[in-house]
Amino acid sequence: MYSATVDYYRAASVADAVKMLQKNKGAKLLAGGHSLIPSMKLRVAQPVALVDIGRIKELSGISLDGSSLKIGALTTHNEIATSADVKAHCAILAEAAGLIADQQVRNRGTIGGSLAQADPAADFPTLITVLDATLTVAGPIGTRDIAAKDFFKDLFTTALAENEVLTTITVPTYGAGTGGAYLKMKHPASGYAVVGVAALVSVSGGKCTDVRLAVGGATANPARISASEAALNGKAPDDANIASAIAHVAGSLSNTLGDHYASAGYRQNVAAVMSGRALKLAAERAAG
Ligand code: FAD
Repeated sequence: MYSATVDYYRAASVADAVKMLQKNKGAKLLAGGHSLIPSMKLRVAQPVALVDIGRIKELSGISLDGSSLKIGALTTHNEIATSADVKAHCAILAEAAGLIADQQVRNRGTIGGSLAQADPAADFPTLITVLDATLTVAGPIGTRDIAAKDFFKDLFTTALAENEVLTTITVPTYGAGTGGAYLKMKHPASGYAVVGVAALVSVSGGKCTDVRLAVGGATANPARISASEAALNGKAPDDANIASAIAHVAGSLSNTLGDHYASAGYRQNVAAVMSGRALKLAAERAAG
């Protein structure tokens, strides 16, 4: 199917893009186009105009800034998967980026497009949720920061206003004593997450000092499983304690999604099993 006719503008800067969005109500930003263009071809999305941000240099790249990574919204999945800085300071993010789709999609798709799309089956939303990242957006009256926990509002819905551009994702880094693991059950056709689990565990003196667990793919937006986090915090990350912790996973996934491929109950069970594996692997990595 072909998309409806649409006007096309190319923005030279973020300020330019914001102006174009304001001038063309109902326009959409075009980044890698790997979610938007298929949606337009299916006529699920019918923007009146496209504002192409694909050549705005200031939106691309990864830099280490103290104890954070600053990732431009236009940075591709492949750049994140292969970045030496990401691998050294936030390995879980590189691990997840490398599991997205296939090499072609990773070469074109951008982290900003993925987050703005807020697809429940996407990988980066789960990662920024477990990492407590901050998203910076630019609009007509300047910039504002949004915490990851406040960014996702519903299926395919975020806190972004129509005339705002996501510019930067700030991700806190972690070092020795903390380990991360991202595991996903891939949909066999697309690679999207049927369930994706991200765990970040800090261990000191044989006990967990900080436990974070997020599940994606199972609910409209990624869910932090705070009951499991609390259950394992302060305890040794052994099999018995992990088993007790993951007993809370299924019950924490309210309004679990179900479809012809995976029912809600199946997703809950997979999420619990994968949470146990991800917590164990993260704790092992924390121990070095
Ligand atoms: P676009 O398609 O250009 O834009 C998506 C949406 O975000 C649009 O509404 C656009 O207006 C908006 N947007 C883009 N950039 C910004 C910005 N800076 N500020 C505000 N709004 C913005 N994803 C996964 O996570 N895991 C997978 O396994 C996976 N498998 C895939 C398999 C296939 C075959 C395909 C085609 C896609 C798959 N994807 C997967 C999605 C892919 O990662 C997309 O590239 C990504 O979700 C969207 O990024 P994009 O740069 O292509 O955004």
